[in-house]
Amino acid sequence: MTDRAGKPPRIVWLRRDLRLSDNPAWSAAAGDSRATIPLFIDDDGMGAARALGGASRWWRGESLAAFDRSLRALGSRLVIRRGAATDMLDALIAETGADTLSFTLSRDPTIAAEEAQIVAALQARGVTVETHDANYLHDPAQLRTGSGGAFKVFTPFWNRLHGLYTPPALIPAPKKLIAPQAWPKGLAVEELRVTDAWIAPIAKAWTPGEESVRARLKKFSQATLEEYSAARDRPDLDGTSRLSPHLAWGEISVHAIWRYLQDKHAAKALPFLRQLGWRDFNMHLLADFPELGWKPWQGKFATFPAKDDRKLLRAWQRGRTGYPIVDAGLRQLWQTGWMHNRVRMIVGSFLVKDLLVPWQRGEEWFWDTLVDADLSQNAGNWQWVAGCGADAAPFFRVFNPILQGEKFDPDGTYVRAWVPELGRLPAKLIHRPWLASSDELRAADVTLGTTYPHPIVDHAAARNAALAAYKRIGAGNDALRP
Ligand code: FAD
Repeated sequence: MTDRAGKPPRIVWLRRDLRLSDNPAWSAAAGDSRATIPLFIDDDGMGAARALGGASRWWRGESLAAFDRSLRALGSRLVIRRGAATDMLDALIAETGADTLSFTLSRDPTIAAEEAQIVAALQARGVTVETHDANYLHDPAQLRTGSGGAFKVFTPFWNRLHGLYTPPALIPAPKKLIAPQAWPKGLAVEELRVTDAWIAPIAKAWTPGEESVRARLKKFSQATLEEYSAARDRPDLDGTSRLSPHLAWGEISVHAIWRYLQDKHAAKALPFLRQLGWRDFNMHLLADFPELGWKPWQGKFATFPAKDDRKLLRAWQRGRTGYPIVDAGLRQLWQTGWMHNRVRMIVGSFLVKDLLVPWQRGEEWFWDTLVDADLSQNAGNWQWVAGCGADAAPFFRVFNPILQGEKFDPDGTYVRAWVPELGRLPAKLIHRPWLASSDELRAADVTLGTTYPHPIVDHAAARNAALAAYKRIGAGNDALRP
C-alpha cells in the first residue's frame, strides 16, 4: 500500500502517550508528505507486562475513544489491533508496506526488553525505526550518582534532577495528518470500552482524554496551585491536581506541565514540581530494579513474618476495618478509582503494619482498582510504605490511623463523605467512634458491630507486634534500642 504520492506510509505506534500535543512521535509525521497510520495494539496480558487492572482498562478505553475523535478531526483515525506487539507490527508493515515506525519508549524494563527486540528485528528488515523519550523528565541511564550508580535516596536525586532539567521546547500538535488510500482493518474503539455496571461511579468522577486534562491543569493552576503546599496533605480539601491518571496514559506531557506551571507561578510551583520528581524517581528505581513490583528492595525483608490473612485483607479492601480514615480511603478508591496520597500512605501502613498483610497484596488491590495504576509508582510507593524500599519510610514509623485522621481531616469532612453511616458523629469522635458513649452513639444513629464495625485490631497492640516482627528480621536494630 502506498499513498497518493506513491510513497510508503509511516506507522505511529501509540501506547501510553495518547496525546497529539508535545508528543515527538508525531513530529516527523506532522511535516510529512506521506500517509500516517496511527496504531494502537491491545496486547494486554499477552506481552511481558502485567495485565491491566479493571479501573485502568476502563480509563484506557475512554482515553482511546477521545484520542480517536481528535484524530478524526484531523482527517485520520486510530487503527486498533489485538495480539502480541511484535506480530501485530509485522503484520501491519507487511500489509501496508510501511517503511518507518515511530514510537515513544517505555521506561519499564520488562517492556524495554521487548521494545529492543522489535527495533532490532524491524531494522534488520530495512524499516526505519524512530524512538522517542517523552513520558518522564529524565532518562534514567543519564542521571547517575557520582560513582555511576542509580540514586537510592530521593533528595539528592531531586537536587541533581532539578539542577539539570530545563523543559524542552513545546512540540506543537499536528494540524493535519495524511490518510492512506485505504485504511487497514482493525477493531472498533468500542470493543476496548468497559461498560460494566460497576464502572458507573468511576465514569461519573472522571473524563479521560487530552482536552479534559488541559482543562484540569488550567483549573488547578488558577484555583489550587498557590495553596498546594498547605493543602496537599488534606484529603478533606480539593488540594491536589488529580493529574495522575492522565499522566499514567500520557494524555499530557510531563514537560508541558512543568513548563506551564513554571511560566505561570515561577518558584511557587516548586513544591508541586517536586512531586513530579517523585514520579521520575520511582521510574528510575524500576529501571534499576525490575523486580520492584514483587520483591522487597532490601533483601532482609524477604523473611518478614507477614500473615497473609485473607479475612483481614477482605475487611481492608471493603473499607470495613473499624478505623474511619482507613475505611474512607478504601471506599473512595472503590467508588472513584482514586485515593488521596496522604490516605494511600495511611491505608498502606495499616495493611502492612497493623494487619501484617504482605505489601504485595495491597499493591495488587491498588493495581486493580486505581485509575492511575502504574507499576513503578505503585510498587515504589508500597515499598516506601512497607519500609523495605530503596528510600523507604523508616519501618518503625507506624502511622496511627486515629491521629492521622484528626490531623489531616480535622472536622471529619472526608470521613463523612465516604463513610456516611458515621456522618452524624461529632468531629471529636468521628475518628474514634468506639470512645463514644451509648447516648452519643444513639444520637448519631450508630450501632457499633452492626451499622459500623468494631476495630478489627487494637492499634497499640498491633504496632508492638509489627515492631517485634521487624526486630526479628533484624531491620534497624539500632533504631529500636531504647
Ligand atoms: P498531586 O499531588 O497533584 O501531584 C502531582 C503529580 O505528582 C501526580 O499526578 C503524580 O504524577 C506525582 N506524584 C505525587 N505524589 C507522588 C508520589 N508519592 N509518588 C510518585 N509520584 C507522585 N501514583 C500513581 O500515579 N500511580 C500509582 O499506581 C500510585 N500508587 C501509589 C500507591 C501508594 C501506596 C502510595 C502511597 C502512593 C501511590 N501513588 C501512585 C502516588 C500518589 O498517591 C499519586 O500519584 C497521587 O495521589 C495522585 O494524585 P494527584 O495527581 O492529585 O497528585
